[in-house]
This record gives sequence, structure tokens and C-alpha cells, in this order.
Amino acid sequence: MRIIFLGPPGVGKGTQADFIAQSYGIPKLSTGDLLRESVAKETVLGKEAKGYMNRGELVPDTVVIGLVEEKLRSPDCQKGFLLDGFPRTVTQADRLSNYLTSRGEDLDRAVYFSLEKDEIVRRISGRRSCPECKAVYHIESIPPKQEGVCDVCGKSLVQRNDDKPETIESRLAVYQEQTAPLIEYYKAKNILGELDGAGLVSAVQDRLVALLASPRVE
Ligand SMILES: [Zn+2]
Repeated sequence: MRIIFLGPPGVGKGTQADFIAQSYGIPKLSTGDLLRESVAKETVLGKEAKGYMNRGELVPDTVVIGLVEEKLRSPDCQKGFLLDGFPRTVTQADRLSNYLTSRGEDLDRAVYFSLEKDEIVRRISGRRSCPECKAVYHIESIPPKQEGVCDVCGKSLVQRNDDKPETIESRLAVYQEQTAPLIEYYKAKNILGELDGAGLVSAVQDRLVALLASPRVE
């Protein structure tokens, strides 16, 4: 099964990706993880990526695509994979498509997680993170036992800059401009499935399993 998850930040893709990867026995690939891994392993691309990151610059498309392709060649991706948050642009999607075609493969599904903007803002702005152990909480849905304190290590929780209301607006604007066109892109390839991201994690999970089990629209 070769799947990609699309959708705005805060829609719950990451949580569902962990679940699907585990239940289908396929690796979950996110560009953030791939970047960290390649930098830690000091691969050629990892060293290149690190240069950009050290200068505070965005890692360019060519490097990100290279990392994804490198990973897809590895033995643990032979049975399939789940890409979470990649491709982010139509350019990346074209490159991925060409790469898979060159191997005689294709994506099985592109799942688009949809959610109303107010709910996205509510979900993201309620996040609190532990600067020490990286545990993530939510003031409404996953509150720590003691307000503002990490259950795991006892450090004070913080709101990451990415999760502040003013940053959410700009993240959503970038998504709308760069990534939202992928919905039409995959619809045209007849592999798009739309998933309502509202409600409890378990309800979304049930809908997702049903969607992946249903035949593709041809
Ligand atoms: Zn902690």
C-alpha cells in the first residue's frame, strides 16, 4: 500500500499516520524525520541539508526530494509506505510520480483530511509542548495532570512559535497557496479520498480505515 496524507496543519494527519503505519505494517515517512535522520547519519544529502538549516534557510526542493527517493529505495519501503506531509507542492508531486513510474509503481491512495478553519486554529493554539522531552499536550483534549507541567519530566510546558495564533494564520496561507492545489492534482489521477477530520481521533480513525478499504474511484 502506497499512501500519501494531504491536508492543512492541525488536521490530525500525524496521529492517524502513526496508527495506519502500525496497522498496515508500512513505514511512515515525514520530511522532518528524514531530514533529522540524514543529518544525524551524515549522509551526502544530510550534510547538504544541514548547511541550509545552519544558515537558517529552507532546505530546497531538490534536497527534500532526494531524501524521499533515497528512503523509498531502502528495503523497508518495498511493501509500501505512508508519506505524511510530502509532497507539499505540485512540483514535488510530479517528481514523486515520475520516480514511482520509473520503478513501475504508483500511489494507491491520496487521503485528503478536511477540517473547518476555526477548528484547526482551536486544535493548534491549544497545543503545549515540553521543551525537555518533546511530549505534546493539548489544553482541552490531552491536558497534563498538573496545568502547565510535563507529566513525564516535570518541566514547564511551552507554546511553540509555530502553534501561536499569528503563526497559524501564515502557515494556513502557505498551505492554501502551495499545497491545496494537490487536491485537484490527485483528484485528476482518480486516487483522492476525502476524509472528514472533525470529531474524536477514534471516529476519524474508523472513517479512515473504511476509506482505505473501499475500492478506488475509477
Ligand atoms: Zn517533558
